[in-house]
Amino acid sequence: MSPPPPPNPNNSRRRNDAEGCLVLSELNPRMVVDHLDDEGQPLHVLSFGTLREICPKCQTSHLKLVLRQSSVRMAHLFCADCATCYDAHYSNGTPALTL
Ligand SMILES: [Zn+2]
Repeated sequence: MSPPPPPNPNNSRRRNDAEGCLVLSELNPRMVVDHLDDEGQPLHVLSFGTLREICPKCQTSHLKLVLRQSSVRMAHLFCADCATCYDAHYSNGTPALTL
């Protein structure tokens, strides 16, 4: 067993810089997720983790990352509180959600 590697301050600073300039733009949920016509029916959408970013709309929930899956046409960020979908890209225009 080797000891865990020490935290690398350079790495975490670079990472924060890159993530600090995420630009969110609201998406029409109907463009992003299928079968929204079933109103009142909770969507079975898998999320792939919770981000640092807070929902700019309701300012309470952290956004969840949702990747493409059966009922999801494109990767996006989702706020479970106000059910808003967001696209995300960096300020230099690079899409942040492209794998
Ligand atoms: Zn929200």
